[in-house]
Amino acid sequence: MSIPGDPAVDTALKLIVLAVVSIVSYRLRFLDGRGFIASLAIGSAVLFIGGWRLFALLLLFLLVGSLLTKVLNGGGAIRGWRNVLANGAWAAASASAYGLSGSQAALLFFLGTLNAMFSDTVSTEVGMYLGGRPRLITKPWLETRRGLSGGVTVPGLLGGFSGAILFSYLSLYMFNGELDSPAMVSVACAGILANVLDSFLGATLQAKYRCVSCGEVVEEDVHCGSRAVLISGYRGVDNHVVNMVSSLAGGLLAMGLYYLVF
Ligand SMILES: [Zn+2]
Repeated sequence: MSIPGDPAVDTALKLIVLAVVSIVSYRLRFLDGRGFIASLAIGSAVLFIGGWRLFALLLLFLLVGSLLTKVLNGGGAIRGWRNVLANGAWAAASASAYGLSGSQAALLFFLGTLNAMFSDTVSTEVGMYLGGRPRLITKPWLETRRGLSGGVTVPGLLGGFSGAILFSYLSLYMFNGELDSPAMVSVACAGILANVLDSFLGATLQAKYRCVSCGEVVEEDVHCGSRAVLISGYRGVDNHVVNMVSSLAGGLLAMGLYYLVF
């Protein structure tokens, strides 16, 4: 989709918007150098091939995520390129497919993958802010350390589910004519299920280590300067892999639920 009128004006506007967003996110230090380049590539694909509306939704996800992190939990980690790609690669691919073909399936995939990341982000931030001690999603009778993958809190889950429903309402509104209410329900359910899947994979397949010096359970294979011992999950399955799989699941679920269920 382009703004009606001169395509040259449309391209110029896109370049300006992309430049402003890039400069702001770089100045606010959301990204390191390579993360910046990765997000520029993803942003360009979504804006120039996918179009304004898809880019607006992507931007909304980034803005709400960053704001929640800053306001609720006082800042956040600077994102590297692996984090950006794990979060944005499926979105860029499906936005490009939609822009080139106008396919409704590609649009549903894009909305599902973005909603999965959105719902997960809202759950994490709301859970950290409101929710006491998280419990392991696979064994809710066990408490786990804050910030460790696989831990969930009731306020976090409810926040994430509400976020997913709001996001799907917004997408129905933005794509009025291309999507109907069963599509909205599919996108909402995809976000919610992928969010739960993210925690489930975090609790089961994601590698957890015990530090040999401080005894803490951690997600990095090196802690306190020495190599930590693998205690659960698989080496190589880190947070990025889990994000990538659950955002893929969000896209596939949105399509699958719409065409096969609702
Ligand atoms: Zn340690």
